[in-house]
Amino acid sequence: MLLAAPRFALPETPEEALAALAERPGAVVVAGGTEMMPDLLWGTRSADAFVSLRRVAALRGVTVDDDDLVMGAGTPVSGLTTAPDAGLAAAATSLGTPLVRTEATIGGNVVSALPYRNLLPTLLAGGARLELTSATGVRTVPFDGFITAPGRTRLAEDELLTAVRLPRHGGFADYVKVGRRNAQFVATVSAAVVSRDGGVRLAFGNAGPTPLRSDDVDAVATALLDGRATPEDLRAAVAVAVDPPEDPVASADYRRHALGVLAVRLVTRARTDGGPGA
Ligand SMILES: Cc1cc2nc3c(=O)[nH]c(=O)nc-3n(C[C@H](O)[C@H](O)[C@H](O)COP(=O)(O)OP(=O)(O)OC[C@H]3O[C@@H](n4cnc5c(N)ncnc54)[C@H](O)[C@@H]3O)c2cc1C
Repeated sequence: MLLAAPRFALPETPEEALAALAERPGAVVVAGGTEMMPDLLWGTRSADAFVSLRRVAALRGVTVDDDDLVMGAGTPVSGLTTAPDAGLAAAATSLGTPLVRTEATIGGNVVSALPYRNLLPTLLAGGARLELTSATGVRTVPFDGFITAPGRTRLAEDELLTAVRLPRHGGFADYVKVGRRNAQFVATVSAAVVSRDGGVRLAFGNAGPTPLRSDDVDAVATALLDGRATPEDLRAAVAVAVDPPEDPVASADYRRHALGVLAVRLVTRARTDGGPGA
């Protein structure tokens, strides 16, 4: 049995990776391992078998088609710091350290599904879609709703996240995060903005159990962009929409306040610097 399906598989194609998963019920996928390894070491996660994506070259790389920026799920975060989307590049640049960014992948960031992970607000604000591949084919789902709770997603056991598609918007995009120090920190809160078609879309990290956005907030943010609303209106709308956690790092009240400040800051930047972001 061990010889037929060793505990650690190193496939070289997506098809081999899917076959390796099918041969090892309950096996977990490892991409960069920067999320998985600490979990295994701290005992917050265990697994009997692993399928590594490290040698699956087809899952790495960023391409641009007519409508989307298409990122292979195994693309390292270091490969996104110069992405032709200013919001994504800002989120990637402030993730971890250079060493972490070299190993960490966009797929791992998405599937780890923690509300404070760097890339998630930008994907949510930008209307990203995910390609989920199984032996029976590919289904494309919106990123909005993919994460159902901290650490939980709609990915099926026999599926791999193979690509992330971020629509090109041609407008302004940015990302900011607040933490207790200037480098290598988990976001106490974060926010991303994308402006397109005369409006803005905001999304927030650590503002609730999953990355969060709200049509009501976007309506007020767009009104602020046009001068029809005040910064205070936007802060009030954000305060109503978010449901941030309370933990030893920060109170829910602090987070609610900081999220309002970030929202106003990003919309102000969109108004004053609003050049092409994609
Ligand atoms: C020192 C340090 C600092 C960090 N700083 C930050 C930070 O500032 N911001 C931040 O957001 N994160 C940070 N992280 C967390 C981590 O680096 C990121 O979340 C990273 O993007 C995870 O990617 P990975 O490839 O290493 O994931 P892995 O650890 O390989 O996997 C994470 C999860 O995703 C699953 N998975 C991965 N790829 C796929 C796929 N293609 N299909 C299906 N499932 C998949 C795995 O099974 C696992 O459940 C930090 C980590 C460390 C160790």
